[in-house]
Amino acid sequence: MKANYVNEGLLVVISGPSGVGKGTVCKALREMMPELTYSISATTRSPREGEVDGVNYFFKSVQEFEKMIEEDELIEWAQYVGNYYGTPRRFVEEMLAKGQDVVLEIEVQGAMQVKEKYPQGIFIFLVPPSFEELRQRIIHRGTESESVLNLRLEAASDELKQIDQYDYVVINDEVDKACERIRAIVMAEHCRTDRLKISEDA
Ligand code: 5GP
Repeated sequence: MKANYVNEGLLVVISGPSGVGKGTVCKALREMMPELTYSISATTRSPREGEVDGVNYFFKSVQEFEKMIEEDELIEWAQYVGNYYGTPRRFVEEMLAKGQDVVLEIEVQGAMQVKEKYPQGIFIFLVPPSFEELRQRIIHRGTESESVLNLRLEAASDELKQIDQYDYVVINDEVDKACERIRAIVMAEHCRTDRLKISEDA
């Protein structure tokens, strides 16, 4: 008898309120877990300083984005604080079929759409150690005007209410600890009994 794990990629959705540090955690995770594949989202938001098209996001016009929606090129999409964000389908599906684990770093509305389409996905909610900490992080990022900042804080407060829709909660008290927790989740998910494949010896 030979025991192996099923060669099918896991879809790992990392979600949580804006400012919780999803981007920072995912950046550190890339170093800690280079074996994961990270989906690149499309957005109509303007690039921030240092952001590169095709690396951080695919930056699109509203017209281009709406065409992607019409042509069903996105697994999920959402309007978030006045801009569109969405996950291109083809790349994710190809990687999963190859057995690669794929990470989506997306906000809550999008994560809920993914949950409907891919209930077998792993849904991880990243939370700040406190709401005050979240406020400080958004303020210190300093990239948003005051009105956008307030909208993001309102959105964050709504997003936190969705926590029980997720399989796992990771507190982002320290980036390295948060990454370790995510690594532990991914490893445990790979070891689930339903991923075991038994075959006869050759
Ligand atoms: P930001 O403008 O700060 O880069 O992103 C704003 C929010 O959009 C963040 O919560 C981020 O995780 C989320 N986001 C980024 N890409 C996607 C995506 O493809 N789909 C959805 N639904 N949200 C996304």
